[in-house]
Parts: sequence; C-alpha cells; structure tokens
Amino acid sequence: MITITGKSVFGGVSIGRLSFYKRKQRVIKRTHVDAVEAECTRFQEAKTTAAGQLKELYEKALADVGEANAMIFEIHQMMLEDLDYIESVENIIRTQEVNAEFAVAATADNFAQMFTAMDDAYMQGRAADVKDVSERVLNILCGVDEGIKQTEEPSIIAADDLAPSETVQLDKSKVLGFATMYGSANSHTAILARTMNIPAIIGLGEELSDKLDGQMAVIDGFTGSLYIDPDEETLALMQEKRREDLEQRALLEQLKGKENVTKSGQKINIYANIGNISDVGAVLKNDAGGIGLFRSEFLYLENNTFPDEEQQFAVYRQAAENMAGRKVIIRTLDIGADKQADYFGLDKEENPALGYRAIRICLTRTNIFKTQLRALYRAAVFGNISIMFPMIISMKEIEKIKEIIAEVQGELKAEGIPFREDVELGVMIETPASVMISRELAREVDFFSVGTNDLTQYTLAIDRQNSKLDAFYDPHHPAILAMIKMAAENAHAEGKWIGICGELGADLELTEEFLKMGLDELSVSPAMVLP
Ligand code: PEP
Ligand code: MG
Repeated sequence: MITITGKSVFGGVSIGRLSFYKRKQRVIKRTHVDAVEAECTRFQEAKTTAAGQLKELYEKALADVGEANAMIFEIHQMMLEDLDYIESVENIIRTQEVNAEFAVAATADNFAQMFTAMDDAYMQGRAADVKDVSERVLNILCGVDEGIKQTEEPSIIAADDLAPSETVQLDKSKVLGFATMYGSANSHTAILARTMNIPAIIGLGEELSDKLDGQMAVIDGFTGSLYIDPDEETLALMQEKRREDLEQRALLEQLKGKENVTKSGQKINIYANIGNISDVGAVLKNDAGGIGLFRSEFLYLENNTFPDEEQQFAVYRQAAENMAGRKVIIRTLDIGADKQADYFGLDKEENPALGYRAIRICLTRTNIFKTQLRALYRAAVFGNISIMFPMIISMKEIEKIKEIIAEVQGELKAEGIPFREDVELGVMIETPASVMISRELAREVDFFSVGTNDLTQYTLAIDRQNSKLDAFYDPHHPAILAMIKMAAENAHAEGKWIGICGELGADLELTEEFLKMGLDELSVSPAMVLP
C-alpha cells in the first residue's frame, strides 16, 4: 500500500480504480503561409466553433453545478471576443505570414505570461483561463476532438491538474473522486469539485505518477490521504467511514433547497461564516442562503503586507459573483487582540482584547480603512454585498464611519470608477455598550449581527483565549441571552433585521430560544448549515 498526502478540497471517501486523465497529443508547428487572409478566416471560423462549444458547456454546467459556477464558460466566451486577443492572433498571422495554429499558441503564451505577471491574484488566475480557451481553438484548428476518455467503470480521475472545462465535461456519474498532483484550493476546478460533491485531493505531488493508472485506490477527503493498493484493514476502515458519511449526508441532503421555515411557519435565514474565498464552495454545497460573516481580516493575515485595493476587490467580487445574488456580508478588518499581523506594527498591550483593535484601528489609520471600503463599494456592483463593522461601542463611531464612506464615495465618483452607492450597512453587537445603545444604533444602520464570542467575553469578563477559564465560560449565561433579546427588540422597534454570527448561532440547544426572540438570521460554519 502506498499513502500519499495532499490537500483536501472536499470531504468524503471514495473507493475505486485510478484512471489517469490523458490529453490528446498535438504538436504545433510554425509554417509559412502565403494566403494570410484565408488563414485569418480559418482562425475566425475556429473561434466561432469554439464559442458554440462553450455555449453548450455553459448549459451543461448550468444544469450540473449552477449559474455561479457555470459563469467561467461565459468568461471564456468573452475572452474569445476580446479585441486585443483577436488582434494579436491576426497580427501574428499577417506580419509573420504564419499559420493560425502558431499565432494562437503564441498569443496564448503571451497573454498567460502577462496575466501571471500582474499583481492581482484574480488576474493571475485568468492565465489558466486564457490557456484553456486557446487550447480549445487549437484543437479545432488541428482537427483534434477534445474530451476525456473515461472508462466505463466509475473511477477516481487522476491528473497533473484539471482545467475547469475538462472537469465539467466529465460524466459525473462515472467520477468517484479527483486526485491531482498540482492545483490550488481556490481554483475553479476545486470549487467545481466541491459543488459537485465529489471527494477531491489536490497537491499530491509527483508521487502520483501515471504508472499507477488502473490501480485500486481510496481517497479519504477528510484527511487528504490517498491510499493506493490499500491493505485489507485500511479498506475495511474506509468502507465503514464511507458508509457512515453517506448515511449522515443522505439525511441532511433532504433539507437542501427547502425554505428556511419552521413547522409553525416562522422564517429564519440560515447563512454561513467564512474566512476565505475558498470557503464559498462549502457555503454553496450546504445550500446556505447567504454569507452572514466574511471575516475579511484573514485576507490581511495571509499576506506579508497590506493587501492592496485590487487584491481585495478581486476577492470580494469573486465572493459576490460566486454567491450569485445571495447576500454576502463582509465584515471590515477586525485585526488586533488574537489576530496579529507583524506588518501592522502594533504595540504589545497589557490587555489586547480591550485594546487597539478592529474599528479602533480603522478609524485612526484611515488609509487602511479607505482602501478596504473602496474595494468593497466597487465589488458591490457585482452582487449582493453588505458591509458590517466590528467592535462598535458608540454613536460617534458610526458618525465617523459614515463620514469616511462619504469621502470614499466622493473620490470614486471623481475618479469615474464604478461603485454601488446604496450598500446595506450593519454593525456587530459584540460589546455590552452596543447592546445598551442598540435602539439608537438601529436608527442609523440597516441591520445587526450579534457576535456572541466577544459579547460573552466582554459581558462575563472572561478572556476567550484563556483555556483555564473554560469552567467559568458559560455561553448560555442568562445575561447573554437577555442582551441578545434586548438587541433584537430594539432592532425590530426600528424596523431593522438582526442575526447572530457568533458560535452561539449554531448551538442547537438554543435554536428554539432564538426563534422565540424573533431573530431573523443565524450565520454558522458551512458544515453546520444543514444540521
Ligand atoms: C464574535 O465575536 O462573535 C464574532 C463573530 O467575531 P470573531 O469571532 O471573529 O471575533
Ligand atoms: Mg468578535
């Protein structure tokens, strides 16, 4: 038995033979042509055929994995119509008097390199797309039909990496899992795997060689392990793990697509919390109605320096687009206390949880705040984004936030940059002060989201990081429940909605209590949405 470990992008266990994905061989040669206009026509015709194929792929993906994920094929169609791309191909044909195949391959390389060199993670990701779409045109020009030769027997698809178009073309009923040598957890392919509910492991490295083609294997998507030629004990263990997982999933699956309404007819939105764009797949997989808390500070924590406006814009936009119209509540930077990034140069503090953190940093280092707000207002054009502010304790803070928003909007307007003006604004209710002034706060914002993790820490005066205090930490403390109730009454008195995004929101022992309080939303980790 060989065990290889990679990065799991979707849980679950699959057992079957490894089937290596083989791409058709094709050699692009540079040949001289005299009839350059006829060559340009050949390119135009191949482009039209490719657009037709992409349209079909879009329809297939729409049916299989939904609009948000099918969008990639619309982007490919747009890339084919990009004037710079077309001009580059035709220029190469005309000026170098060469065949269309050579011109397309050269253009694909140039564009991919250009995207890769960009500073922006989103644009870098487009390099794979321009290559993918050019491969399609090249296959048509060379008369090679694309497609994957899948075995009749369902199998685990192994590959160096898979392009989104390759993934979506697979006959899903014959795919038990994905195992790839490379790939990123943020790639469209990883998102597709999650959305297709297929166990998948990426980054297995070169140990996953095509010499293993046809061997029996097990993917343990919970641990990121791939077992090849498993021994009897491992096989039995994995079969049992698979059985339990399927049983659990089948029960919960029955809830998908159903309205979030109680037996007595009370409606409550069930949203999900995320820390990273790669979590959106799990949100969709679990059919959350929206994202109730996007902890944007993780974007800062994963970076060695301040993420710039473009980088942030790309991430927020992607979240909004992938959620395709469902609400995406993005919380502004909540750095400080337990979440530290060296490049912020924050001082060591006696009481970091009571210190210089979250909105306090944003309101004093306004450049950081303005960059994030610009990215958020720009991204809001692409979906249903709301903005939420952490650690609020006073009306003065709201006033200041609104002043800064007005400044940001004024600047974007003056620069002619598109943005959405009427973005819903909310505050986190996570300090006792915010509970006590919740009636006034409710007049100034559109919604509340209760951060019970911090609300408990500040109300009970118990450091949430100190495990020695676990015995004293009582999240069901009547004081906490009374505070949530008070905030809910005040929100509703001003006609505003209120949810919970702290861990307590997923506490099934309290669900009934929260419904009685009339909470409008619970935002929980993706895996808790269905439970
Ligand atoms: C909270 O405090 O409950 C909350 C949701 O925010 P965080 O856990 O990120 O502080
Ligand atoms: Mg908090």
